Amino acid sequence: MARYLGPVCRLCRREGEKLFLKGERCFSTKCAMERRPYPPGARGRESQFRRRRASDYALQLREKQKVRRMYGVLERQFRRYYKEALRRKGLTGENLLIILESRLDNIVYRLGFASSRAQARQLVRHGHFYVNGRRATIPSMLLKPGDELSVRPQSRQRKYFKDLAQVLDEKDVPNWLSLDPLNMTGRVLNLPTREEIAPSIQEQLIVEYYSR
Ligand code: SF4
Repeated sequence: MARYLGPVCRLCRREGEKLFLKGERCFSTKCAMERRPYPPGARGRESQFRRRRASDYALQLREKQKVRRMYGVLERQFRRYYKEALRRKGLTGENLLIILESRLDNIVYRLGFASSRAQARQLVRHGHFYVNGRRATIPSMLLKPGDELSVRPQSRQRKYFKDLAQVLDEKDVPNWLSLDPLNMTGRVLNLPTREEIAPSIQEQLIVEYYSR
């Protein structure tokens, strides 16, 4: 499956906000947004002093790119999610965010089994998780209410998961998920509501982008 392999801190700098793509580092002073909070490239630094009003199109494009990068989804798949969101009942923008939140890699990340979505995607690809008792290796798999996620029994013996046990004990998971740290299992209780998803996202701009 195709994915972005370039430097990820550049993406945050381009979007002008922290997208939390690198786990622990994002919370440290090593974060590039702390040290160089301006767009990447030769003219990045001076561009922060230029006062030019962004066009509507530019705002819509940036919002779409921001969310796409946040969840690590490439354009073609993101567009597919948009079409699915359009097809579902309710507000398209909210539906889109709910679909993104339901991805297996996102749920692994939300439950605390990984410190970033990129790491979650790799753990899923390497076959460390079961969904409803069956091995799941597709990060884009969409989970639904009632689905149970667990760490594969053989994987629990690995140092990574042994060390993780303590982290999971202190992990606060969103209300729409439940976590059993002792057994290393989690469950989707229901789909998230808009209030439970990143408030900084302006999904309406994404809808406007695709409705042009
Ligand atoms: Fe973004 Fe994290 Fe890099 Fe900071 S450390 S710029 S939040 S990916």
